[in-house]
Amino acid sequence: MRPSKRLDRIPPYLFAELERKIREKKAQGIDVISLGIGDPDTPTPSLVVDALRDAVTDPGTHQYPSNRGRDEFRLAVTRFYRDRFGVELDPEAEVVPALGAKECVFSLNLAFLDPGDAALAADPGYPVYTGGPLLAGADPVLMPLLPERGFAPDLGAIAPADRERARLMYLNYPNNPTGAVAPDGLFEETVGFARDHDLLVVHDASYTETTFDGYVAPSFLATPGAKDVGVEVFSLSKGYNMTGWRCAAILGNAEAIKTYWRLKTNVDSGLFEAVQLAGAAALRGARKEVAEM
Ligand SMILES: *Cc1c(COP(=O)(O)O)cnc(C)c1O
Repeated sequence: MRPSKRLDRIPPYLFAELERKIREKKAQGIDVISLGIGDPDTPTPSLVVDALRDAVTDPGTHQYPSNRGRDEFRLAVTRFYRDRFGVELDPEAEVVPALGAKECVFSLNLAFLDPGDAALAADPGYPVYTGGPLLAGADPVLMPLLPERGFAPDLGAIAPADRERARLMYLNYPNNPTGAVAPDGLFEETVGFARDHDLLVVHDASYTETTFDGYVAPSFLATPGAKDVGVEVFSLSKGYNMTGWRCAAILGNAEAIKTYWRLKTNVDSGLFEAVQLAGAAALRGARKEVAEM
């Protein structure tokens, strides 16, 4: 038996490696405080758990879900985007559920990259921005996040050859791991860059609801023109204490979402509908809990 060359291209998953090291230290009796993977250790808000309990007793949720998602979920997400971010989206064409941001980011690589293509990846950044392109047979090109630019990448510094072969660009604000918020003008500049180089911007919005000191994070999709060139991946994992539930959505450019959906119909069979209904309840009602987080 031998693993594929594809799999040989990626280094051991960083978090898996960290978990191994932590286990090792714990076995030696060392009290380890992990600053690694972000995983809230308080329970999911009870209104979300109650919504799941109700939904799971309804046999209507027990069959294969559709990859397009239930109406209730798509409506809850688009209403949340309207009320929270001032972004208008068509629930029919501009939103689809995802099995977490991780699945979504990974699948976008398979949907948009061919060998020889590149994905521009914020660095440091979530490991799937680099592992995903490698598994798709393409190349990640790192965009250093520069402290002197407020942890924005210098788009002007991307080599001409890399601009030409880039099909995707990954950004993430509020940013993990730097903690930076979107620097002024970066989203606008990114829209122009994506237009000039015909690439899809993927904004990872895993932390828009996890801010403090009164800062309110914007959606990338609120930037003029963003929907023409980009999608946003919104995850309920961190803001709503739902890491184990695998509940997220992709929003924005209808053509890109259709392409993602086309890939998905060949890979998985959608998000458990009871989880979709619980996610919808979270987006509708968990304001107070999110603020406490
Ligand atoms: C946690 C995290 C994710 C993964 O989110 P899931 O929805 O749980 O898959 C993606 N991106 C960033 C930046 C994260 O920190």
